[in-house]
Amino acid sequence: MELLFLGTGAGVPAKERNVSSIALQLLEERGATWLFDCGEATQHQILHTSIRPRRIENIFITHLHGDHIFGLPGLLGSRSFQGGDTPLTIYGPKGIQAFIEISLSVSYTRLKYDLQVVEIEEGTIFEDERFLVIAKQLDHGIPSYGFRVVEKDLPGTLLVDKLKALGIRPGPIYQQIKLGKTVQLDNGTVIDGRDFVGPPQKGRIVTILGDTRYCEASVELAKEADVLVHEATFAAEDSALAHDYFHSTAVQAAEVAKLAGVKRLILTHISSRYQGTLSEELLEQARELFPNTELASDFSSFIIPRKK
Ligand SMILES: [Zn+2]
Ligand SMILES: [Zn+2]
Repeated sequence: MELLFLGTGAGVPAKERNVSSIALQLLEERGATWLFDCGEATQHQILHTSIRPRRIENIFITHLHGDHIFGLPGLLGSRSFQGGDTPLTIYGPKGIQAFIEISLSVSYTRLKYDLQVVEIEEGTIFEDERFLVIAKQLDHGIPSYGFRVVEKDLPGTLLVDKLKALGIRPGPIYQQIKLGKTVQLDNGTVIDGRDFVGPPQKGRIVTILGDTRYCEASVELAKEADVLVHEATFAAEDSALAHDYFHSTAVQAAEVAKLAGVKRLILTHISSRYQGTLSEELLEQARELFPNTELASDFSSFIIPRKK
């Protein structure tokens, strides 16, 4: 599991930072990439990475501001042109369906794969046997969502050596034991499967928020997450601007991280007014309150290890 930042700027593209997009690489977990937002030229940014558009399985859109969605039509079209034929689902606020339908129809873009668009509300918006994604509304002037990506716990591994020591040979019975069932052996002995399975492997939690002012929903979505990705459009001294434009300062992002008890905070969506060393100041401001903070740049990658 890896976070790869494709665009880390706010509002308009800058030379140093393109507009928003983040890839959550789930190659080991499901052979797929999930995208969060798709600002203009996201497909150009992808060209500099190992991401394959055909592997993109889900795209989660936080909100409909242009710097988060103008890259969608191009990416969707290229994915088809480059032979992508597996289904793709886009989750986003009300209005995303119209945006995609109109962009594709007026440009005569025909996709050779099945595209689903899901207009979301708060709650669980995605779930399968391995993952679930919870959405909640933030505070940004227009509907803006944050996403809590939860990897489900994996069952513990079968303690094969312990079974063999008891003379229990591999066979269909192992499957029963692995499920924690009580089974009777050929010799009449009854064993409890739970005694032969290691502890479950804890799943990871990644919280990725859309643009927002400081709000309670951010803290709830980030509760004890392994990683929180939070916007930091402004520096602490520009908190009045942050408030007026429905954004956060780096310090407010750190407050959310601290209150939620996350392990690690990554700042993104940096205004172009803070370039070079100025952006380092944002990082220092956040670290004063929450030391385990990092500042994302375009193409920054962060591996999210499994909990021990
Ligand atoms: Zn934005
Ligand atoms: Zn916005």
